[in-house]
Amino acid sequence: MSARIIDGKAIAAELRIKVAGEVKRLTTQHGVTPGLAVVLAGNNPASESYVGSKAKATKEAGINSFDHRLPDSVGQAELMALVKKLNADPAVHGILVQLPLPKQIDAQQVLDAIDPAKDVDGFHPVNAGRLASGLPALVPCTPLGCIMLAKAVHPSLAGMEAVVIGRSNIVGKPVTQLLLAENATVTVTHSKTRDLPAVCRRADLLVAAIGRPEMVRAGWIKPGATVIDVGINRVPGENGKSKLVGDVAFAECAEVAGAITPVPGGVGPMTIACLMVNTVRATCAISGLPAPAV
Ligand code: NDP
Repeated sequence: MSARIIDGKAIAAELRIKVAGEVKRLTTQHGVTPGLAVVLAGNNPASESYVGSKAKATKEAGINSFDHRLPDSVGQAELMALVKKLNADPAVHGILVQLPLPKQIDAQQVLDAIDPAKDVDGFHPVNAGRLASGLPALVPCTPLGCIMLAKAVHPSLAGMEAVVIGRSNIVGKPVTQLLLAENATVTVTHSKTRDLPAVCRRADLLVAAIGRPEMVRAGWIKPGATVIDVGINRVPGENGKSKLVGDVAFAECAEVAGAITPVPGGVGPMTIACLMVNTVRATCAISGLPAPAV
């Protein structure tokens, strides 16, 4: 294996320490303690696990954590009323509604109801539009984490040939906008792209956000390229247990790439750390304070 392994776990841990420092500064110097409200409707086991990890990281950073658990049978009106209440609550600076929502709920209507200033997931159309317009915005956490990992290898991404696989609103599109903001030359690919391996071989920086286990093969990688693997796929492992793999065939691609993120331990840990970053950024903006040092 020749590639440098980009240690997302270590980079995320450093970032969380910086966030905790900023939270302490805001609390002691300005009397403002950031607050994050997380809304979980239903009992999806994966969502419960994510929400648990978020609550733990929130408390460790010194951020006030407000958990709202609602039954699977929750109605649209009840959920909308909760969002309205959180929008108006001065102790809450960030609101995260965990997806997926129960099937009777119109999720877009709920997300659209979140005050864009408290939209720490960065999914509100106002924040998506501001990002696309090059204006300050709350940016989705996973794409923000991808850029931080790429910059851990290349402090400047200016002029780099970047290829993004995937065009979802959650990952592909925002990561594309962030790469443009970093002055990379970006190609966005998707399921209708012709000769995807050839397009990927042009990339100095390849971001894979597909949701297909180990689809990206060694022959798709330009020698020395940096590879950011966003994929989280559960596949059958040994002894009847399942294991997590990314969208990139890690072992073979690591032979060709210059640097690569592992799964797990790459992009995943950055997502929660960036949620903490967004909560502190939202707190400063709402409180009329200068942007934090994270
Ligand atoms: P989506 O399913 O919303 O989007 C997948 C994208 O990949 C689409 O744009 C789709 O193209 C494209 N795609 C699918 N198949 C192919 C193919 N054969 N060739 C080229 N492109 C293809 O997924 P998400 O963006 O939400 O997530 C992507 C991955 O990232 C998943 O594995 C997910 O689990 C993971 N993830 C990880 C996070 C983390 O914290 N690390 C957070 C969020 C997601 P088209 O638009 O044409 O359909």
